[in-house]
Amino acid sequence: MRAMSESETLTDLERGREDCVLRFADGASFRLDYVEVRMSCPCAKCRPRQENEQRLIEFREEVTRLRLDKPKAELVGRYGLRFQWLTGCSSGIYSFELLRNVAEQAGTALD
Ligand SMILES: [Zn+2]
Repeated sequence: MRAMSESETLTDLERGREDCVLRFADGASFRLDYVEVRMSCPCAKCRPRQENEQRLIEFREEVTRLRLDKPKAELVGRYGLRFQWLTGCSSGIYSFELLRNVAEQAGTALD
């Protein structure tokens, strides 16, 4: 198994009502809307919906219509998280690497 870099090691997850704060071992923290987390679900059902611009637009419309109440989150091994949404998909395992990428692209960096 490949060693994880500090930037890909999640050290803390604070769940708010509409967004969460992710902290990583390299000291970086990001605020991330649950819509963005849900939009990047890596499961077999959601992955194809992220393939091209048109499908992403439709996927985003669908996800933003859902109520994304504070999901439960559980650690999967030492490398990932599974979110349980009250509505929608709960089968995707988000690797820390994926969460870091999403946080950098769609989140807000915090000091
Ligand atoms: Zn999914």
